[in-house]
Amino acid sequence: MRVDLVSEHASPLAVLGGVDAGGQNVHVASLAVGLARAGHAVRVHTRRDAADLPERVPLAPGVEVVHLAAGPARHVPKDDLLPHVGALGDALLRDWEAHGAPDVVHSHFWMSGLAAARAADAAAVPLVHTYHALGSVKRRHQGTKDTSPEGRVAAELAVGRRADLVVATCSDEVDELVRLGVPAERVRVVPCGVDVEHFRPLPAARLGAVPPGVPVRERRHRLLVVGRLVERKGVDTVVRALAARPGTSLADTELLVAGGPVAAALGADPEARRLRDLAASLGVADRVHLVGQVAHDDLTAVIGSSDLVVATPWYEPFGIVPLEAAACGVPLVGSAVGGLLDSVAPGVTGALVPPRDAGALADALVDLLDDEPRRRAMGRAARRRAVARYSWSRVAAQTASHYRSLTGGGLARPVPARLTEVAAV
Ligand code: UDP
Repeated sequence: MRVDLVSEHASPLAVLGGVDAGGQNVHVASLAVGLARAGHAVRVHTRRDAADLPERVPLAPGVEVVHLAAGPARHVPKDDLLPHVGALGDALLRDWEAHGAPDVVHSHFWMSGLAAARAADAAAVPLVHTYHALGSVKRRHQGTKDTSPEGRVAAELAVGRRADLVVATCSDEVDELVRLGVPAERVRVVPCGVDVEHFRPLPAARLGAVPPGVPVRERRHRLLVVGRLVERKGVDTVVRALAARPGTSLADTELLVAGGPVAAALGADPEARRLRDLAASLGVADRVHLVGQVAHDDLTAVIGSSDLVVATPWYEPFGIVPLEAAACGVPLVGSAVGGLLDSVAPGVTGALVPPRDAGALADALVDLLDDEPRRRAMGRAARRRAVARYSWSRVAAQTASHYRSLTGGGLARPVPARLTEVAAV
């Protein structure tokens, strides 16, 4: 099959950890490579966000990244991209006219959905959509701090009604989509994946060796948070937990936070400053290390240097970091929200606690920090589960089977309306 992925702001070539570069970039890149390894020809279309980018860049055998001109050729925050989405759809259609249309187009994030639907309507190409995040959920949790463009929720519904299939990444998302009004019969669940070859348990001899810029462990225990430095990732809850149980093993525990801008720029980052101020006010500044962006390739060593990975977001559409921890054989303590409800098996591969509850988090952490044999058993179970369920080859095969259902190789193709008939967006 010839498959086109559209990921307007999240290029598979981007450096990870910045405000707008995270799981979606990893997902799109890995899905593309997984599909290509299974023999499909893949193009990933993304917005040209720098003047010196070549139009077409090979990413891996069978995968080409295409930079489409739409809006200024510089970084534009994703919340300001909506005015350029029509141009992106037109550029995609022109690319199909010049280089051939795909058998299926799979858009990632709602604005890519609008752009892809525009081209798919014109070229009669089946459209598959994955949201990665939902405006309705973001608005619920962030309220007035949500800077998404007006009309995001209505546009997401229009994309969901227009798409031939919606691929949700977890069961919690299916509930949200159905509540939104997306027809349940067109929704399929395929989780995000993890590179189980790259992320793997380290041999004992390499445990504790960390890449340059990451401090070696100074305390008895180490917790690790990996992610973009944005408030909703709830890193403050982990800092609070660190201070919440004096006299327990948490008092001899350090917290490493990987993510955000490069280390040298952390001083100017508002969330980094907020976390450092909080740590100072709680008397734990000497045990909280913000190390900034860590190269994706270096993360295995950093995860391997930790006893537990912690992810306590307010909400989480999927969350690839919990899979990376699992693949490395390190248990995860996280919030019982979104994708973590599927990706963590409480009591087996880690523990789940209510979001924004430092006390509950502290108790769960002490429990596991005090029980090394249990941690090890959980790590082994997590690795097994990651390999069995979340390898990219498996995720790509599941995704391709849904594509095939639209291109005549399986189920009859449903007949959705054209985007312009679904809603004026
Ligand atoms: N990441 C990274 N280096 C960092 C911070 C994050 O490589 O310093 C990667 C991380 O390993 C994961 C992705 O960025 O693959 C974050 O994905 P996730 O789904 O957990 O969160 P999102 O950023 O999409 O909200």
